[in-house]
Amino acid sequence: MTIKVGIIGGGQLAAMMAIASKPQELDISIAVQAQGLDDPAVTWAEKIILGKVDDAKATAELAQYVDVITFENEFVDLEKLQVLADAGTKFIPSLQTLEPLLDKYTQRSYLQEHGIPVPKFSAITTAADLSTQPISFPLVLKARRNGYDGQGTRIVNSEAELRDAWHSMGKVPALVEEKVDFVVELAVMIARSSTGECLTYPVVETHQLNQVCTHVIAPARINQAIATQAQEIAKAIVTNLDAVGIFGIEYFLTADGKVSVNEIAPRTHNSGHYTIEACHTSQFEQLLRIVTYNSLGDISMRSPVAVMVNLLGYENVESEYVDIRHQLEKLPNCSVHWYGKNISRIGRKLGHVTVLMENYENIEQTISTINAIWQP
Ligand code: ADP
Repeated sequence: MTIKVGIIGGGQLAAMMAIASKPQELDISIAVQAQGLDDPAVTWAEKIILGKVDDAKATAELAQYVDVITFENEFVDLEKLQVLADAGTKFIPSLQTLEPLLDKYTQRSYLQEHGIPVPKFSAITTAADLSTQPISFPLVLKARRNGYDGQGTRIVNSEAELRDAWHSMGKVPALVEEKVDFVVELAVMIARSSTGECLTYPVVETHQLNQVCTHVIAPARINQAIATQAQEIAKAIVTNLDAVGIFGIEYFLTADGKVSVNEIAPRTHNSGHYTIEACHTSQFEQLLRIVTYNSLGDISMRSPVAVMVNLLGYENVESEYVDIRHQLEKLPNCSVHWYGKNISRIGRKLGHVTVLMENYENIEQTISTINAIWQP
């Protein structure tokens, strides 16, 4: 019997999940709660409910139609969703799992309480906290909620800058944290099923420019002990949370070999896009398997190395970049994913490219070639 899966959010993550649902043997039909009819997932879903992600009335409508609801975006209104859960709506991950994760301050506090290494941090609630906060400069100011792609994250060098930055954020509840002097940022996707079966994908390197991910290299060029450390931390987190679903965990690695957690995303994640071509089971199929109570799929890689490059908007225009995409498609072992957003804005994620490789030899050259074609 067809299982109907609802996704809160209609962006590219929901779109790629809807695409992953298409093989007939899965027998899954997808409904999305999308903000507008031009959202990327609308083309691929069988049913659309219009509403912003925090519109619980739209979610109530979605719940009428589906067997289970999952998330591509966690900026939801948990209290209102709890009313639906109490009335029998099934959410994966559960609302209890999401509860400590949606606010960056409570997430950091939760991790610290459970002995997981995190950067030093402190809450900014009122203007008075700006002069008494204990972190030395430079530091990182973050809005507690609704930050993504580095929006709501600012590096500041002095108390005056901190004050300006917090004011320009609209004086929202925030946190400050030590600016970690990392050698590289890492990430791992971890899948956990309702039976507690748990698989961690390879640890990857993520590279950011101005707080936005530009590219990901899988597996990360790190030693086994560090990879194991990151994977063990991921396992400890999902086990503590009794979490069911797929989770993207981001880390900082410092020169002394220490790994600390930057963030947990309770859903599929940009750092896992490489899994579509590079792993036997993509992160999107894996989440579908979990929400439909199937056993987990094989996470091993199909190629020794993969690189994923984000196609980020670099101008404010209306364009589908058709010629450029064709040029990218001609590169060897290259897959181009276009999210169908026809309005480009600076920094907006418009698509991504994954290249499968035999080794790391030509990796920097490959990234430069892709960037030169994308942004001539
Ligand atoms: P978002 O949730 O918007 O993606 P993040 O908190 O993940 O924001 O931060 C985005 C990027 O900003 C990180 O990938 C990293 O490059 C940088 N960053 C965030 N926090 C710190 C920190 N404490 N120290 C150094 N760099 C940081």
